[in-house]
Amino acid sequence: MPDIIQLLPDHVANQIAAGEVVQRPASVVKELLENAIDAEATVIKLIVKEAGKTLIQVTDNGKGMSSTDARLSFERHATSKIKKADDLFNIHTKGFRGEALASIAAIAHVDLKSKQENQELGTYIKIEGSNIIFQENISTPKGTSIAVKHLFYNIPARRNFLKSNTIETRHIINEFQRVALAHPTISFSLYHNKNEIYHLSSSNLRQRIVAVFGKKTNEKLVPINEVTDIIEINGFVAKPEFAKKKRGEQFFFVNNRFIKNTYLNHAVTSAFESLLSSGYHPSYFLYLTVPPKSIDINIHPTKTEIKFDDEKTLYAILHSTIKHSLGQYNVGPVLDFERSSSLDTPYSFKSKKSNSPKITVNPDFNPFKNEESTKSLHFHSKQTKNNQWESLYTDTNIHNVEVEAETVNASLFSEETKTNKTYQIHKKYIVSSIKSGIVYINQNLAHQRILYEEFLENITVKEATTQQLLFPLEISFIKNDIELIKEIKEDLENIGFKFDKISEDSIIINGIPTGIIESQITTIIEQLLEDIKNDIPNASFSQLDIMAKSLAKSLAIKTGTVLNLKEQEEIVNKLFICKQPDLSPFGKTTFITINIEEIDKIFNN
Ligand code: ADP
Ligand code: MG
Repeated sequence: MPDIIQLLPDHVANQIAAGEVVQRPASVVKELLENAIDAEATVIKLIVKEAGKTLIQVTDNGKGMSSTDARLSFERHATSKIKKADDLFNIHTKGFRGEALASIAAIAHVDLKSKQENQELGTYIKIEGSNIIFQENISTPKGTSIAVKHLFYNIPARRNFLKSNTIETRHIINEFQRVALAHPTISFSLYHNKNEIYHLSSSNLRQRIVAVFGKKTNEKLVPINEVTDIIEINGFVAKPEFAKKKRGEQFFFVNNRFIKNTYLNHAVTSAFESLLSSGYHPSYFLYLTVPPKSIDINIHPTKTEIKFDDEKTLYAILHSTIKHSLGQYNVGPVLDFERSSSLDTPYSFKSKKSNSPKITVNPDFNPFKNEESTKSLHFHSKQTKNNQWESLYTDTNIHNVEVEAETVNASLFSEETKTNKTYQIHKKYIVSSIKSGIVYINQNLAHQRILYEEFLENITVKEATTQQLLFPLEISFIKNDIELIKEIKEDLENIGFKFDKISEDSIIINGIPTGIIESQITTIIEQLLEDIKNDIPNASFSQLDIMAKSLAKSLAIKTGTVLNLKEQEEIVNKLFICKQPDLSPFGKTTFITINIEEIDKIFNN
């Protein structure tokens, strides 16, 4: 047999490696910005066109590269930042792998211009898919400018995989914000399709946060400062009253690198514990400085997770520091900073008695016994018998019935039962008698379905009705969100919102869709923006769909709401004229039916 193993040509190897480093335009933005920071630039400019799909350019005034280095920088594993294995444990720069430029050059057209301070002329290199097109001397200012064009031009699958410009721009802005927040003294600007999105001058940390998130942020910030032997903590948390339904502004930086860490996030959130209503998340901008030796960032080029040596102690210190600061600024009711950190159980729910979920099983249940029973219920007649009779009324037994939903329409209701009474049980289900037996409707999920279809119809077909607000309502948003609101403005108007003005950091609303209560608007819009960000829609149709879903979820009658007879009937009637009554917009079962024969069987058991 002949030998069959071959070494891959460099450009193929680079292309493969690029898949790891460059997932989307925002990854290129991150790598280029970080290189500029490592080059000690004080002014960094990012220019993006078409969400980075046609151009990403970073210009810096850093130390530049010699013409040999400029050429070498595109080789894989070419780095000026570490020299030996030991250096990996003492990293002071953003980069160290030496793969970013090689990877980017393998999958795009790259123009690099660079000049060092003492050089007369600089270097200009043009590379397309790892091939050097030319290298020549040119006159160019001190520093480096790298333009990345036509990203993924030679990997159509990756290019097609990219999301809409809205989504890719959002990723770019997020990456830009993280880098800008980590380096307040560096001046950054961001241009998208010739519009200036950010112009951040060199400043202190507070000013930088305010410049990124809008001037209203200033009054929200509570400073955090703590120095111990193993960690220094600086930054700000937002006062509890500014907590949000979404997790938006939560930033940890470790040695000026943005990271995510659920454990430390818990340390912060739990310090707010009694100050926040459930479902709300505090905003924070926390800068941790630890000895580089005590962390391991050597995991993956695109991962934001890092490992700490002594996470437990960091947890305790962070938790008490935040609690202390909240107390000092009179926003925390209890001050228990004197407590030894060992008493601060990391997970606050550790001490709480947990209610183990009840699982009821019918030991006699045999799915193969007959066809009828497979399709339907797991009823636990034996257990119910053993229970005290009161439990039938006080317990949630009835909810344990699991029945597959049948496809049902209005014909479900016989003429006689159509006028039948409905009942509400446990402020959660609407029960009604139907031709074949009984139906349980989940009020929240059913109402979501009803509203969802109504909204979709309003957005796409009908003219929506608006209720004019007596006093226009001003809501402030961060810049990102304002951009997003501008994009979906027309859709919002189609469902009944009317805008008086959209300015840099706030919107003024003077009309809202009928059915929405004024006090809910902020939450609804925040939720909507969050849903759009998370759902990564591609086509405008799905953006509308997400809007309809989000609004339906926010506005649907909640579990726990008492419904009068009229309201119950309205839900039942409206649900069964829906196009797809059996599922909520998020795919959950909205109602179940139990056939009379099944009920008979239980009693004849
Ligand atoms: P890494 O940042 O991990 O070293 P990169 O591929 O990102 O790897 O960059 C390779 C090398 O090119 C860097 O080590 C640095 O010496 C040089 N370089 C890249 N960008 C710049 C820049 N903007 N200014 C000066 N030198 C740069
Ligand atoms: Mg780099």
